[in-house]
Amino acid sequence: MGECSNLSSSTKRNEACWQRLCPQDGTQGKPVQLITLKSLLVPVALEQLNPASAYGFCPSPNCLVVYFSEQGQTFASADLKVPVFQKNVDENVFVCYCFGWSRQRIREELNQSGKSNVVDRIMTHVKAKRCGCEVNNPQGSCCLENVRSVVKQTVEALARG
Ligand SMILES: [Zn+2]
Repeated sequence: MGECSNLSSSTKRNEACWQRLCPQDGTQGKPVQLITLKSLLVPVALEQLNPASAYGFCPSPNCLVVYFSEQGQTFASADLKVPVFQKNVDENVFVCYCFGWSRQRIREELNQSGKSNVVDRIMTHVKAKRCGCEVNNPQGSCCLENVRSVVKQTVEALARG
């Protein structure tokens, strides 16, 4: 018998047995803590939260689902208080939610100075334990990977003219 065989009859959650695939598009989700949903869901969505369930974050830009549970419950962008970076290409959407770096702010800095030190600045705050990704960022985890990719894309776009 595998360790997952009696999962359905067990009330104890077994995170290792849940593959965390988005029920909408099958994307591999990222684990997200309850505190992230509690912080970012709008009241009517929060009223539907199941605190006994594990939730995942769907990072796919083409999928409407932001959060999904083991049981197949889903929350979409409209259920969150903030626009979700992965789901919304608007210039004003934050990449770094804690320290307020939008795509536009990153582009403006690159335009003005020719280079961006945004990654270093965020890392300084992270090291000083000032970041609160678990309550600010819809993905519930550090933004630096996203910031690096936005800086790279913006540098390339500016180089193309
Ligand atoms: Zn999805």
